[in-house]
Amino acid sequence: MRVGFIGLGAMGGVMAARLLDAGHELAVWNRSPGAAEQLARRGAQRLQHPEEAFSSDAVITMLADDGAVRDVVLANKALQRAVNKRLVHVGMSTVSVGFAQELERSHAEAGLGYVAAPVMGRPDVAAAGKLNIIAAGAADAIERVRPLLDAMGQKTWVFGAEPHKANVAKLSMNFLIGAAIEAMAEAVTLAERYQVVPKTLMDLLTGTLFAAPAYAVYGGLILKGEFMPANFKLTLGLKDMRLALAAGEAAGVPLPFASVVRDNLVDAIGHGDADKDWSAVARVARRRAGLDDGPPRR
Ligand code: NAP
Repeated sequence: MRVGFIGLGAMGGVMAARLLDAGHELAVWNRSPGAAEQLARRGAQRLQHPEEAFSSDAVITMLADDGAVRDVVLANKALQRAVNKRLVHVGMSTVSVGFAQELERSHAEAGLGYVAAPVMGRPDVAAAGKLNIIAAGAADAIERVRPLLDAMGQKTWVFGAEPHKANVAKLSMNFLIGAAIEAMAEAVTLAERYQVVPKTLMDLLTGTLFAAPAYAVYGGLILKGEFMPANFKLTLGLKDMRLALAAGEAAGVPLPFASVVRDNLVDAIGHGDADKDWSAVARVARRRAGLDDGPPRR
């Protein structure tokens, strides 16, 4: 399949590589041109302008946020200029529910297929083709891009025909991960204050009632106190908490835990942790308890 891929950041770069590995004909664009070099060496075509990607059979966007997708997809009228009316745009960024609904309308007006397909999994998971893809859109559009989704993910979870529902599901998941990181950070800090061995507590937690990947992955990072390189930047985590809160506010759904996590992420940024992994928010709980900036210790 001829695929245009826009946005070769931490996630997009490795996801695009999976499509090349699966034998698809890939054309790529990234705002900073350096990111496309490695893929070009492996046979991908480098595009000069993002709208050129919309002449493929399918175009995938994996950009940072609403603003980036607006700049690249809506501002330059890429949808109106698309020649192939059977094109399906697969929007894989984590964007706001309001913007996802706007994208839904814009694609319908342009007569183009649109599948929202945000993902669960960090760059190492994406590189292994093991993402969980949360998809929604017209069934025939999803089927047309299924080979691409299968090349990037271990499973595609379909949430119906209205694309924005995938974004609601994705934000619900990230809200839960943020709350899990915050809760673990507070629990480990409490234990440390009483000289309980943090690792034993974490082993108990992840080996019994909380034996789940989110606790294991982020618990490990909290224990090590190593938050660089950032697999998922703290600023992106803050974006997702804000998006969950906005979605809640629009529907009359209070999310008090999300407010706490949002404030703590802002606190972390104020203390210079913006470029760290979002699990560095654990340092906020430590600081408040009068502990130093290092990893938890007995
Ligand atoms: P990232 O490494 O920061 O990459 C962001 C991408 O967006 C880069 O290609 C960047 O281009 C581009 N971009 C930003 N603003 C732009 C603009 N105004 N115009 C054009 N391009 C712009 O982020 P990421 O980790 O790949 O995440 C991408 C998306 O996936 C986000 O929505 C994130 O929430 C979601 N996500 C991330 C993870 C994770 O673990 N990292 C997991 C699941 C979902 P430049 O290279 O020029 O900066």
